[in-house]
Amino acid sequence: MTNYETLKKEIEALHDPYFEKPLSETKGLRKLVVGPTGVVNVEIALKYIDGAKEQAFRIELIKKVKVELGFPGIKMEFVINDYVPAGEKKINYIGIASGKGGVGKSTVTANLAYALTRIGKKVGIIDADVYGASIADIYEIPNEKPTGTSEDLMVPPKSKGVEIISTRFFVEGDKPVMWRGPMLGKLLHSYFYGVEWDQAIDYVLIDLPPGTGDIALDIQKLAPQTKMIVVTTPHINASSVALKAGLGARQIGHEIVGVVENMSYYLNTCNNKRDYVFGTGGGKLVSQKLGVELITEIPLGLPLKGSLYEANEPTGKIYDEFAKRLIDLVE
Ligand code: ADP
Ligand code: MG
Repeated sequence: MTNYETLKKEIEALHDPYFEKPLSETKGLRKLVVGPTGVVNVEIALKYIDGAKEQAFRIELIKKVKVELGFPGIKMEFVINDYVPAGEKKINYIGIASGKGGVGKSTVTANLAYALTRIGKKVGIIDADVYGASIADIYEIPNEKPTGTSEDLMVPPKSKGVEIISTRFFVEGDKPVMWRGPMLGKLLHSYFYGVEWDQAIDYVLIDLPPGTGDIALDIQKLAPQTKMIVVTTPHINASSVALKAGLGARQIGHEIVGVVENMSYYLNTCNNKRDYVFGTGGGKLVSQKLGVELITEIPLGLPLKGSLYEANEPTGKIYDEFAKRLIDLVE
């Protein structure tokens, strides 16, 4: 049997198959203990887990430790490595969550993305609301399909400068979709590991399904670095569900960036007064209870055209400020 130092060196010389760099460089060897009987206990962080290349890595590791170095056994655990290679940019993953549907989660996701591009960021959206995918409709590309690369990665269609991956692209017409656990897992896996975003992508916004179910857990596994924005309306009923979603996300390890109150008020242009049509206080309550900032309050009212507010509309300006604040909070 080899001594500990040699064992460590040999394992650290193995390459993370996704980063294509040795573990010594990616700081991928997180734990290494040799038990009294010589069984090796390792924790390895790879760029992605759950993929075919992880399997190949496991086999390589077992061969190295047992066959080449002569240890009697090995116990392995794999976690995700959020190491960013020098010269490469970090992608900011931002999940948009709400307790229930209809509060404007997709509207906020789409318009935040659009505002970020207006201030020079490269942005993608993952429409992970598999039961109510609406981002492709908001961006008016419901019938587009991603193209493929030679490495079998999906190249997202682009609209108004925003790259979009949506479940909408993979279903026929308006049929309702019934995704089951494993299928859903696979689909999400491909959204996180199978997309070739623009080389210079800065932000990927994720339109999450309402609630705190399985998908939140899947996303925690696939992209643990995802930070969350919680959307609520001013009404107390909506805010209590939004709070639950926020607490749930935090419980599984996501950082909450802040709260957005949508449909906050209607600006009465006759007297320039705000009418609080849906009550007040929801956003403030959720942000206080979560101990985070109420980043913005978005008024009621549709865009002049389509579903996206432009920079010269009052609500477009509110989204610009929102985007700037988000950048301050996460960069
Ligand atoms: P969710 O994704 O949470 O289910 P949506 O973004 O689809 O919610 O919004 C639900 C509906 O409310 C949509 O028809 C949308 O256009 C509308 N809506 C969202 N935000 C506003 C707003 N601030 N003012 C007016 N209508 C809005
Ligand atoms: Mg939606």
